[in-house]
Amino acid sequence: MSNSTKYIFVTGGVTSSLGKGIISASLAKLLQARGYSTTIQKLDPYINIDPGTLNPYEHGECFVTDDGAETDLDLGHYERFLNVPTSQANNVTTGRIYQSVIDKERRGEFLGKTVQVIPHITDEIKERIQILGNKGTYDIVITEIGGTVGDIESLPYVEAVRQMKWELENDCIVIHLTLVPYLAAAGELKTKPTQHSVKQLLELGVQPDVLCCRTEHELDLNLRRKIAKFCNVNMNAVIEARDAETIYDVPLLMQSEELDKIVLEKLNLPTKSTPELSQWKEFLTRLKNPKSETTIGLVGKYVELKDAYKSISESLIHAGAANNVKVNVRWIHSDKITADNLSSEMEGLDGIIVAPGFGSRGISGKIETVRFARENKVPFLGICLGMQCAVIEFGRNVLGMTEAHTTEIIDDCKYPVIDMMQEQKEISNLGGTMRLGAYKCQLTPGSNVSKAYNTDLISERHRHRYEFNDKYLAQYEENGMKATGKNPETGLVEVIEIPDHPWFVGAQFHPEYKSTVANPHPLFVAFVKAAMNKNN
Ligand code: GLN
Repeated sequence: MSNSTKYIFVTGGVTSSLGKGIISASLAKLLQARGYSTTIQKLDPYINIDPGTLNPYEHGECFVTDDGAETDLDLGHYERFLNVPTSQANNVTTGRIYQSVIDKERRGEFLGKTVQVIPHITDEIKERIQILGNKGTYDIVITEIGGTVGDIESLPYVEAVRQMKWELENDCIVIHLTLVPYLAAAGELKTKPTQHSVKQLLELGVQPDVLCCRTEHELDLNLRRKIAKFCNVNMNAVIEARDAETIYDVPLLMQSEELDKIVLEKLNLPTKSTPELSQWKEFLTRLKNPKSETTIGLVGKYVELKDAYKSISESLIHAGAANNVKVNVRWIHSDKITADNLSSEMEGLDGIIVAPGFGSRGISGKIETVRFARENKVPFLGICLGMQCAVIEFGRNVLGMTEAHTTEIIDDCKYPVIDMMQEQKEISNLGGTMRLGAYKCQLTPGSNVSKAYNTDLISERHRHRYEFNDKYLAQYEENGMKATGKNPETGLVEVIEIPDHPWFVGAQFHPEYKSTVANPHPLFVAFVKAAMNKNN
């Protein structure tokens, strides 16, 4: 086993949704800011091979990496915080682990042995953890274990952690994130759930080195002492993780708790310099001191679960900070939009985003929304299905093809202006078979997109099966909708614009996957700017 890379495991106890992803990303940010090359990995205990086939209501957005992996949304946080791209290796599920072990078994690689959870599944887990460490690129690998300690499905992961801790000694630590609830009737914070959760970890042979305690109130010295004593951790390793105003405050809160210093000490690594966080702090200052406000409507079919559009809403936060403006997002349910309520639903919006999506639910509301944005000259950004809806709307209402549609919804529609990509036609499996990951795109000089990016060759991430049908391109361009971005190799239309509109852009790709604190995405920055200037 390589000794050069250090491993940090982040487990969770008491309840789910404590924010392991944000704590992991914040710690990684602090370590990176001290000069350590750090990456984060998420291990998900479910049996799906990846979240690509999951309904967003289950786990929120599916995040897509440059190499085309469909991953957990926490990878989006990792990229937004660290500004370093992740890859397939950064997200592993139980399904993938088992698939790989079963494939090996079928190839005869286990030489007739009985294949078991220990050691075969746990070895596969350990291998997946160390793939990142063995690359030689990272000083530190943080591995977040999804789920809650005590879940049956997390057991093999915790066992893999136990083994690695034993094998790597000082090169490996465990941070356990727990909840210290406040009982209003007693007027007290309660440590018992944390004690029990640590006990559960101990039963599995894992002693946590650091405890991060989510709490709504201050964790005073007495409470820290009590937790330290009951859980065998140093008192300075009991970290208060208070609810924050924004997730972007968390690295600084963790810094004031000295989480990074404690972790480095425990890993026998020098603390090096103090973290270089000036750019981060500047971002926070802009975020918290906006000079004006703007209201963006986000139209989608999953708006009641905001996690379904996580990367879009974070991109708007980044773009708002870049423009010194507070972006208010109005979440609008596409199912509920009709021609009759359209103008009241859209009232007061400075900009409109039509979200990505699959299937027919809500699509007519999305098409109506586009019509409103186009006719009323409201700045518009259509993403993936949102771009496809813009093409359909233009076909129907400007080009007079009232039956224009996407073949995703009506297979034999009269005007298939959005049609399935040739390479997709033979594929019947749904998982991992879309056009996925980064592709180049050539922009038209002088277009709104080329101005936004300030360059003409870009690379953006994709996740779709359907595309603009080239057969109709000339007709669209002659009548005012231009293809201003194309794939330089295949000629596929990637961006459409209406030049005779203040700002109307549809992108077949997903710009939201690439927006980070350090690099707010140019398309969102330009869109928010257009929204701010709407009435000027
Ligand atoms: N459903 C559309 C397609 O497959 C759009 C996908 C998306 O919005 N990500 O092409």
